[in-house]
Amino acid sequence: MKRHLALTHAAESPIIISRSIAVKLLALVAFLLCQPAAVDPHAATQVQALQAAGSYQPPPPDSLRVVLLGSGIGPPVRLNQFGMSTLVEAGGTRLLVDCGRGATIRLAQLGVPIASVNRLFLTHLHSDHIVQIPDLMLSGWATGRTLPLEVWGPTGTREMMDALQRGYAFDIHMRRDVDEKIPSEGIRVVSQDIEEGTVFDSDGLKVTAFLVDHGPVSPALGYRIEYRGHSVALSGDTRVSENLVRHATGVDVLVHEVLDAVAARAASTNAARTETIIAHHTTPDQAGQIFSRVKPRLAVYSHAPATVSVIEQTRKTYSGPLQGAEDLLTIDIGDQVVVRHFGQ
Ligand SMILES: [Zn+2]
Repeated sequence: MKRHLALTHAAESPIIISRSIAVKLLALVAFLLCQPAAVDPHAATQVQALQAAGSYQPPPPDSLRVVLLGSGIGPPVRLNQFGMSTLVEAGGTRLLVDCGRGATIRLAQLGVPIASVNRLFLTHLHSDHIVQIPDLMLSGWATGRTLPLEVWGPTGTREMMDALQRGYAFDIHMRRDVDEKIPSEGIRVVSQDIEEGTVFDSDGLKVTAFLVDHGPVSPALGYRIEYRGHSVALSGDTRVSENLVRHATGVDVLVHEVLDAVAARAASTNAARTETIIAHHTTPDQAGQIFSRVKPRLAVYSHAPATVSVIEQTRKTYSGPLQGAEDLLTIDIGDQVVVRHFGQ
């Protein structure tokens, strides 16, 4: 009976009830609009996690390992190619050359603790080669680095590292002196401005810096790294450099930068700036000429777009072994040069 009455009432007063509902709905909408966006508890599981290696295996005895941690061109953020950074390992010694965006993330993917890396060599101080240094410096220490962070680089390196220490003084003070009481030795930075010549020689691993030509971004360095008769040269950023050819002669592996001028011009929104950038780098056909002169056992691109176009342009001037740029590419240089893609 009650139900009937209620239905009757509703049927007899449709307009009044509709107004009532409308007012409530408006109030509800206003309430919802004022609320912060709801957090989807399942959102985290919808994000694709970066793949990690099962476990990191050190290089075979007597061989020199090179891993392209980040192989992309900066400054744009690229999700498939992070900023410039290369890991070199031999005989239990680990070195990092440049520390661009994502270097610490790629190390983690590789299974190499960032606390285990305390030697960093810089090619030049362009941001895309250095922006991850604070993470290496601070997080490496906070996760167990007990040795000072040693940094070698061109003029300005020491001043930059001192400034970074000042900039992050609060975190350092808190963790070292107030809160966690982490031993101070691991947050000490020993940095030096270097010139051309041998800058590191320990346990058979030798690092020689040489000048390259990055236009007005000077000085800019490349590195030749040798271990037990095996060698790699890393170009850093450079246009065609005769000094690089001289220092890279006889290396097993030459890792060289490249800039696809054709693609850069096609995508350009500022022709003058694009031409300036092209003039400070090496085009694929120029890089091919360098590879043809140096004749490494393997030529590898880094700081490069991973496109078919780059390889095809290179083939006009170079027919030898060539590997395109790729993050987490591992090259073991021993009696043979063995290349492994990440996850293999
Ligand atoms: Zn540069």
